[in-house]
Amino acid sequence: MKIIAIGRNYIDHAKELNNPVPSEPVFFLMPETALIRKNQAFFYPDFSKDIHYEVELVIKINKLGKNIAEKFAHRYYDEVGVGIDFTARDVQTELKKKGLPWEKAKAFDGAAPLGTFLNKSEFTSTNNIKFSLEKNGETVQLGNSKDMIFSFDAIIAYVSKYFTLKIGDLIYTGTPAGVGPVVIGDKLKAKIGDKELLEVQIK
Ligand code: ZN
Repeated sequence: MKIIAIGRNYIDHAKELNNPVPSEPVFFLMPETALIRKNQAFFYPDFSKDIHYEVELVIKINKLGKNIAEKFAHRYYDEVGVGIDFTARDVQTELKKKGLPWEKAKAFDGAAPLGTFLNKSEFTSTNNIKFSLEKNGETVQLGNSKDMIFSFDAIIAYVSKYFTLKIGDLIYTGTPAGVGPVVIGDKLKAKIGDKELLEVQIK
C-alpha cells in the first residue's frame, strides 16, 4: 500500500507559502510507516523545530488501475476521509532551497494521521465537501473540495499515468490556507462537515 500526497492544490495555500499555482498536480509519496491510525498520539520528532499541521481530504482507492481516464476515475474510490499531512517546515525550506526531494520533511514516521472514512454516498457531491481543523478548540483551517485546483478525478487520472493504483492506496488531496505550527501538548481535531473523524494529541 502506498500514500500519494498532492501539494499546492488550493490557490490560497499556494499563495500563503509563496509557491506558484501549479499547471499540473505536484505530488510526493509517503511510506505506510507515516500513518497514524485510531487517534494515536503524534510524537514531535527531534529533527525539526517547526512541525506544521495541514488538514486534507483523503480518498481511498478501491480498485486496481493504471492510466485511468478522468471520466472513469470516480469508480476507483468510494470512501472519503480526513487526514493531517504533518510537515517539518524548517526541513522542507532547506530542501526546497537546494532543489532536493521533500521526503525527509513530509514522509517521516507519524507524518500522516488518518481519520475515519465516510462513504461517498453520504455527500450530495464530492465537489462540495466541507472540512476543517481545530487546534485546542479553535478552528484554524476551513476547506471545501470545490476549491481544489485539481479534483479527485483529475488527481486519479494524473497520478495513475505514473503509478498503478492498488486497492487500499491513499491519496491526500492537499491543504487549504491556514497551516501553522504545533507544539507539544496541542490537540488537533479534524472534521468533515460537523462529523469529527480524527483527533491527534501532540506529545
Ligand atoms: Zn499537504
